[in-house]
Amino acid sequence: MLKKCPICELNYIRGNETMCRVCAAERSKRHSPKSEEEIIMCSECGENPALPGHDLCEDCLKEQKRQANLEVLADKIRADEADDPLEEDISESADEEE
Ligand SMILES: [Zn+2]
Ligand SMILES: [Zn+2]
Repeated sequence: MLKKCPICELNYIRGNETMCRVCAAERSKRHSPKSEEEIIMCSECGENPALPGHDLCEDCLKEQKRQANLEVLADKIRADEADDPLEEDISESADEEE
């Protein structure tokens, strides 16, 4: 039992197939089973297509990761400074005594 491919409506497919071979090949070429036509551009640079499941392209994701790492580092430094309140106390009391 043959029926027409629901996607291109040109080629015939067997009853247990959802699309013709042409459409199947087209689909696997695009690597995106969900959105066929829609390519989401990176919300950061707007120049590269965003990675699936992300708003950003590969470059911007890397950059974002780098920034996150820097922030973690900065937090660590801040924590280290807070760990060492003695120095501040000394300099402050020295100012007051003057
Ligand atoms: Zn087709
Ligand atoms: Zn980008």
